Amino acid sequence: MISDANRLGLDYEAEARSLPYGEPIWDVHTHVQSVASAETMLKAMDVYGVEKVWSMSNLEITAELKEIFGDRIEFIAVPNFSQKDEEGTFTTDWWKRIEKFAEIGTKICKFWAAPRGLDFDPMFAIDHPTRRTAMDIARDCGMMFMTHVGDPDTWFATHYKDASKYGTKADHLASLEKMLDEYSDVTWIAAHMAAHPEHLDILQGVLDRHSNLYIDTSATKWMIREWSKHPKELADFCARNEGRVLFGSDIVTNDDNVDFDLYASRYWALRTMWETEYDGPSPIVDPDLTLIEPEKGKKQTAKLLGAGIPNGELDFVYRNAAVDLLSPMYEW
Ligand SMILES: [Zn+2]
Repeated sequence: MISDANRLGLDYEAEARSLPYGEPIWDVHTHVQSVASAETMLKAMDVYGVEKVWSMSNLEITAELKEIFGDRIEFIAVPNFSQKDEEGTFTTDWWKRIEKFAEIGTKICKFWAAPRGLDFDPMFAIDHPTRRTAMDIARDCGMMFMTHVGDPDTWFATHYKDASKYGTKADHLASLEKMLDEYSDVTWIAAHMAAHPEHLDILQGVLDRHSNLYIDTSATKWMIREWSKHPKELADFCARNEGRVLFGSDIVTNDDNVDFDLYASRYWALRTMWETEYDGPSPIVDPDLTLIEPEKGKKQTAKLLGAGIPNGELDFVYRNAAVDLLSPMYEW
């Protein structure tokens, strides 16, 4: 059926069978936010060879999810975003919550610092004092950090045009680098390629300067749109940074979007990008294209130009980097 996740009317189950890679994949960045979506998410994982996911789920549903997913899910500590207007949600309650996540075996703590967070509260800056309290607790609990700093260039050209309010993309990266030094004894995973899929040269500099930094490849629409402008550069970048680039999708599941095509579309697009030399439209509607060129309408999809990376070279991105980095932290 045609939807915003499937403008091409693809049969995502059949499509998966024709992709070249055959080994298990680990997805280090998802948001499984509802129990009702679990079976549909599991089906998308099965169809696309995803053995295991790390999920930013509310603490309250982790036990139920664990019962359904078993060892196919691990959690990433997050504040209780469902209570975002309550006092303490991002301070006192969050600090307690980190310890509770640690008690259930959580090894990664997420610090979301997108510039749009500043519309809501100054504490969403990555270097805000309340963050440091949370970071100190997470470090004491033996967790590594995952962070989201920055956003697409398309946003800095539109929503974030007012640099006096939101800062520039370079400002946010500089703050991240400062924190990477300050917490140099902690391993960090910068989500969404540290917000730099557009500028792999800048990203390379950051990785070269900070040996405690790893990146994930999540945020499918954004990544596909930008990588497709330089697929060869992406392949070279991954080869050069073997072990530091971890596969992630950023699939978000909740009670309102229980939809196999929605979840599967992310895996289809990412795997098609990495594994094939596909040259055609992405099946997923990308609202960022409308931001830049509203006159072209609301159903625009990015061009997808595959990087065609051979299976043997994909092992690290798809699984081995996560095995090497994360497995030693758990008692599996
Ligand atoms: Zn995410």
